[in-house]
This record gives sequence, C-alpha cells and structure tokens, in this order.
Amino acid sequence: MATESALLERCESKCELCSSTAQLQPFVVAPHTQITVDHAVMLCETCKSQIENPETADANHWRCLNDSMWNQTPAVQVVAWRQLKRLSESEAWAHDLLDMMYLEEDVANWAMIGMDDDAEKPRDVNGVELKKGDDVTIIKDLPIKGSSQVIKQGTVVRGISLSDDPKLVSGKANGQSMYIIAEYTRKK
Ligand SMILES: [Zn+2]
Repeated sequence: MATESALLERCESKCELCSSTAQLQPFVVAPHTQITVDHAVMLCETCKSQIENPETADANHWRCLNDSMWNQTPAVQVVAWRQLKRLSESEAWAHDLLDMMYLEEDVANWAMIGMDDDAEKPRDVNGVELKKGDDVTIIKDLPIKGSSQVIKQGTVVRGISLSDDPKLVSGKANGQSMYIIAEYTRKK
C-alpha cells in the first residue's frame, strides 16, 4: 500500500511519538477517517493502545512527547497536543509542555475538533462539518461500487443527505443516487 510506505518513510520506521520501532501501524487522526499521508501517523502498539484506551495510559510513557511535540508534521502535532491535553488534567509537566507548544491556526482547529463530542459528525477533507442540503465537490476520482463507472474528481454533488454512518453522505452524481465517503468531498 503506497500510503503506508510513504508513512514509513516519513517516520523512518520509528513511532512518531515515542521512537519505538515495535509493531508500527498507521493511526488515523480524528475526525479524519481515511488513512492518508496527511491524516495519519505511524504509532507503535504501546502508543496506539494507550491513545485508544485512555484509562490504560501510563503517564511516564508520554514523557516522549517532550521531543515529539516539536515534530513538523501537523498530524503528529495534533496527536501530541491532544495527548498532552488529556494528561495535563493530572500531570503538571504535561501542562507545562502544552503551554510551550505552538500550533498553526488550522492545526489547532483540527486538534480541537477531534477532542469534542462532535467527532461523530460527517466532515469533509478539511474537517468541516457537512450538513443536509450542502453542496460538495468530489476531490478524487471515485469508483462506483458494483459498476465500472467512476465519479470524476471535481464533480459537484448538490443537496447531500446524511446517513446513519458519519463516514458517508448520500447524494446524486452522474444521475444516480449513491453513498459517498464524506472525507473525499470538499464543502462548497
Ligand atoms: Zn510509540
């Protein structure tokens, strides 16, 4: 998978938070749902499982953020910021690091969007919430399930509907009704 090899190259086969080389896996940074180079980080099993199960987090493990918070990759900055934010409730050192951390405005927005309870809302490629009736542009050629057709990049889908799955919106493209992965759209 090309995305995964690009990620492995970026992280130099080390966990992007703690530099461990054990069992690296891509981790999608919410509210994004698709593994892409921009929206995923490579994490070791320890970091990944402690992020997914915050109650198991070992505060000492996260001293690694002291270094990784300076990573240049926005997705890594977002994960580091969120983890420091959680730890800062009980750990003074995490609070101090958080104070030192600087995020560009759009990175800070991304970090905060994924922290709140709105993560279950459909969002476009930029993390903008999609609502019923929105018009969206398709950002890459998408094969239509069960046919040989594609919806071309740049196709505009007007008046989308939401679905039960926050990853999907529905709308009409090429004259057919279909589900579209929210993250492959851009709100107009
Ligand atoms: Zn790690």
